[in-house]
Amino acid sequence: MSTQVDPESVVGTTVQRRRMIVRGIVQGVGFRPFVAKLARDLGLSGHCGNDDYCVFIEIEGPSATIAAFATRLRTDAPPLSVIVDIHTDIVAAQGDTSFDIVDSRHRADARTLISPDVATCADCVREFNDPTDRRYLHPFINCTNCGPRFTVITDLPYDRPATTMAPFPMCAQCLIEYHMPSNRRYHAQPISCHACGPRIYFEQAGRQEFGDDVVMRRVHDALDAGRIVAVKGLGGFHLVCDAANSAAVARLRSRKRRPDKPFALMAADLGVVGAICEVSDIDERLLAGAAHPIVLMKRRSTTLVATEVAPGVDEFGVMLPYTPLHHLLFRGGPRLLVMTSGNASDEPLCFDNDDARQRLGAIADAFLLHDRKIAVPCEDSVLTVTDGAVLPIRRSRGYAPLPVLLPEPGPVVLAVGAEVKNTFCLTRENYAFCSAHLGDMGSLESQRAFESSVAQLTTLHRVTPQLLVADDHPGYSTRHWAQRHSDASGIELRTVQHHHAHVASLLAEHGRLGTKVLGIAFDGTGYGCDRTVWGGELLEVGPDVRDAVRVGHLQPFWLPGGDAAVRNPARVAAALLHEAGLIDIDDLPCTAALEPVERRLVASQLREGTACARTTSVGRLFDGVSSLLGVCHRASYEAQAAVELEALARTAGSAAPLRMTIEGNEIRFDSLLADVIGEMREGRPIAELALGFHYALADATAELVRRHDVSTVGLTGGVFQNRLLLRLLRKNLQDSGFEVLTHEKVPPNDGGLSLGQAVIGRAIAREMGAIT
Ligand SMILES: [Zn+2]
Ligand SMILES: [Zn+2]
Repeated sequence: MSTQVDPESVVGTTVQRRRMIVRGIVQGVGFRPFVAKLARDLGLSGHCGNDDYCVFIEIEGPSATIAAFATRLRTDAPPLSVIVDIHTDIVAAQGDTSFDIVDSRHRADARTLISPDVATCADCVREFNDPTDRRYLHPFINCTNCGPRFTVITDLPYDRPATTMAPFPMCAQCLIEYHMPSNRRYHAQPISCHACGPRIYFEQAGRQEFGDDVVMRRVHDALDAGRIVAVKGLGGFHLVCDAANSAAVARLRSRKRRPDKPFALMAADLGVVGAICEVSDIDERLLAGAAHPIVLMKRRSTTLVATEVAPGVDEFGVMLPYTPLHHLLFRGGPRLLVMTSGNASDEPLCFDNDDARQRLGAIADAFLLHDRKIAVPCEDSVLTVTDGAVLPIRRSRGYAPLPVLLPEPGPVVLAVGAEVKNTFCLTRENYAFCSAHLGDMGSLESQRAFESSVAQLTTLHRVTPQLLVADDHPGYSTRHWAQRHSDASGIELRTVQHHHAHVASLLAEHGRLGTKVLGIAFDGTGYGCDRTVWGGELLEVGPDVRDAVRVGHLQPFWLPGGDAAVRNPARVAAALLHEAGLIDIDDLPCTAALEPVERRLVASQLREGTACARTTSVGRLFDGVSSLLGVCHRASYEAQAAVELEALARTAGSAAPLRMTIEGNEIRFDSLLADVIGEMREGRPIAELALGFHYALADATAELVRRHDVSTVGLTGGVFQNRLLLRLLRKNLQDSGFEVLTHEKVPPNDGGLSLGQAVIGRAIAREMGAIT
């Protein structure tokens, strides 16, 4: 018989024993050692331990001291822990004389939260740099506060045998530290040292060399000589070269088949970041925080970075070293490295040595490898800061698999996400677990990576979904996977319209499910309810999140040749001009950019309507305007034309006076195009036109919003990675008194889609449950 109590309500000197169940991120973050130390400091007895579900504590002593213990459990908890709730019962005293950490217990339904990987902490960096420390320059140094977690865990409870550190038995000294309560490695599962840890090695042309000094000298020599080295990191491989060496970066571009898309950089320290970018206080906190993401920041004019690193854009994406191996990389060789995902374009990240040898062998000149397995791939996260708020571009390492908290418990739902920038999402209780970034699902390798990641997450959580959710698009491979999985398992599958899911993801991350919102979902491509290509939608969603009504959209136009138009913004420009009745204009750069034969093909497609899809995509509108202004006619990566248009607009001193009009529920571009052409002919600088276009779109969108009876507006979809448009539209709407929601936890792009699918799925599953 036990009694639930408010932990703060009982005070006094009578001896009491409480059983406490602590839920949240409490494994692998030094929580049990913290509990033990706190109990012993207060002179309390009892025990604590892990099970699959929680940390359990039994604590005995004077009731006033126990009350102090309960308070400090929350206030002094380790930095990486997240306590979701503590359930407390009073039980019979047992007269223990000590406080112990007891063995982990397995339960049938594992339900703990897993910590993300954490960048090397300051204490470990200090030891790493201390020649008298026994872990001086150890490539795998870590402690209870830092190191690998998500990417080494193979099962729960989180103990060494259930990690990829299992093959490395601790040496006598490491064991002593592991068992010593006062040590900062007490019960830290992945710890090791030079004697017992994994080993690094250098591999070139099939020849391997060992010994940390030799290995790092080879790596530094290779980088200094302009070579490309594939480096095995925490969640996968990076392709690395000297960021200042044009020839090296150009070689990496050609071998990786990635002509233009900006490369991420890793800088030796914050000083180097400050030399190449304008770094705000928030940027600095993000760069140096536990996650160590890639942060996009305005670039300075600098010779430290080769122009080939980020052509056509005004930002660099930079991160700081986040593993000891990265710190070794910067003890010699260049101070600034290109650090791009270890894969060829459109393929998934390599995270296994043999796979890397095969797939990266033609790209890298040499390999820096080690013999610790990566349990699950995890790409670097990408964030940027706009108007003082974080805008996630890719939520992955350092964040996954942390859940997004939902306001109330609900059914278990698996949402399979989108086709590009894929993540999936599993809900359980009041958590939505969004996977690490899996990327584009076009290849078989990607689909395999998707399948194994789904298997890992559902296994760790020991759950079977009650419902599967996929996008409406009949061609998405994730939808096909969900259909096959549904057929095989009997689990029901529902599909959700793309932009509806975007709006729902925004509501979910703000804890605002149940709010009626006018969602502005602007993106590249999403399958519409009328089977056309949507992407410039105003959707009224809620108060029931399952309900969405399309109340406005961009003026539709023909997209000639489908994907061919996406790769060739000049063709989109031709389509926009055609729609606006502005044909046979020969003096425009977008017209000149088309080959004569291509021009005839596009003209005939548009005239006959063959191989054309009707679209309302704002992403494509950006592409077309970018080409019309002569900024970008051919795109080698997604949204290149729009990204370069935004970068150009940010250089403008003033905006050209452009307008888009509203007719019925449509935002129209036809008169805007005529005005742009007129201004170009009069010699208006294209930067001013680029900025004027951003204003015109923001103003017209806000105007259409004002015609609707709502108080809350949400901005979502990949187009809202454009910070200029985001800022202009947000300000315009806020000035009109609207509450404006924007993304701060999951990306506005398709990387956030699975969260929206999942919460709509939960609402559907709840209803299904009520019926059956
Ligand atoms: Zn540490
Ligand atoms: Zn050791």
